[in-house]
Amino acid sequence: MILLDGKHTSNQIKEEIKDTVSGMKSRGERVPHLAAVLVGNDGASLTYVGSKVRSCEYVGFDSTLIHLEENITEAVLLKQIEKLNQDKTLDGYIVQLPLPKHIDEEKILLAIDPKKDVDGFHPANFGRMALELDAFIPATPFGIMQLLERYKVPTNGKHCVVVGRSHIVGRPISILMSQKGPAGNATVTVAHSRTEQLAELTRQADIIVMALGIPEYLTADMVKEGATIIDVGITRVADDSHPKGYVIKGDVKFDEVAQKAHFITPVPGGIGPMTIAMLLKNTLLARQWNAS
Ligand code: NDP
Repeated sequence: MILLDGKHTSNQIKEEIKDTVSGMKSRGERVPHLAAVLVGNDGASLTYVGSKVRSCEYVGFDSTLIHLEENITEAVLLKQIEKLNQDKTLDGYIVQLPLPKHIDEEKILLAIDPKKDVDGFHPANFGRMALELDAFIPATPFGIMQLLERYKVPTNGKHCVVVGRSHIVGRPISILMSQKGPAGNATVTVAHSRTEQLAELTRQADIIVMALGIPEYLTADMVKEGATIIDVGITRVADDSHPKGYVIKGDVKFDEVAQKAHFITPVPGGIGPMTIAMLLKNTLLARQWNAS
């Protein structure tokens, strides 16, 4: 069994980005600048944004955190978005989701300038990605593709079953893995909550991408010998024996599935850290594309 070590690979990618940024600094060029907009005080969002800002600092990017009150109006947030779109010192920005219920998430995401949309959630970027044009690819599927590529996991002609069809993970990874190119050329089946006989499908798969958010859903009897398992799931499960009061679980019953898998990602330390590294990669791309 080979562990697809997202922590190690993401550190490698961060070092590569850091080297590129040092080169920019030594040539007197402006370094990439990422901003993060956080509305409210949701615990998980604060953690995610905090680690994104720290990662920016580590690789030498400029970063700005815009922390807004939970009760901010949609109109004020849209004004803030417009300001960020106009800011010439800023290469890219993200709006941390979820937003409070009184704000229309779709309206906000549509207001982001696609050239600064380093999360890759704007329809213009999604469309460009689907058409195999230069685009910001959402960080999680981008991270999965990088991990598959760097570990030389065979995908060409393989059957991949993606469980989950969300706009940020399941749907884009199913498109990317079916496209031509590295980590692509797979024959992809997309499964979701209406799929019948899921285990029969996953048992036929050479590669399974689990992105549904149900802890330890994929068990060893659902997997064929030698399969590649990508676990995107992150769920906090209450655990009083842990100092934080919870543990993080993936969508895969790791201990038993790892016995049958050839390649497998752990949780934590798999796709999570790759996601942050690819957000940095997208910001670097934004800096390079906007300069050219
Ligand atoms: P969503 O809730 O948006 O989508 C879940 C998908 O799973 C839906 O398509 C749903 O089907 C499908 N699904 C739900 N139940 C079943 C079932 N019993 N059988 C088959 N399919 C099912 O989740 P996300 O895609 O946003 O996230 C998925 C997981 O990945 C979560 O745990 C999330 O925390 C994690 N995540 C991790 C990231 C990382 O950095 N590692 C980044 C983003 C997400 P339907 O469409 O029919 O409802």
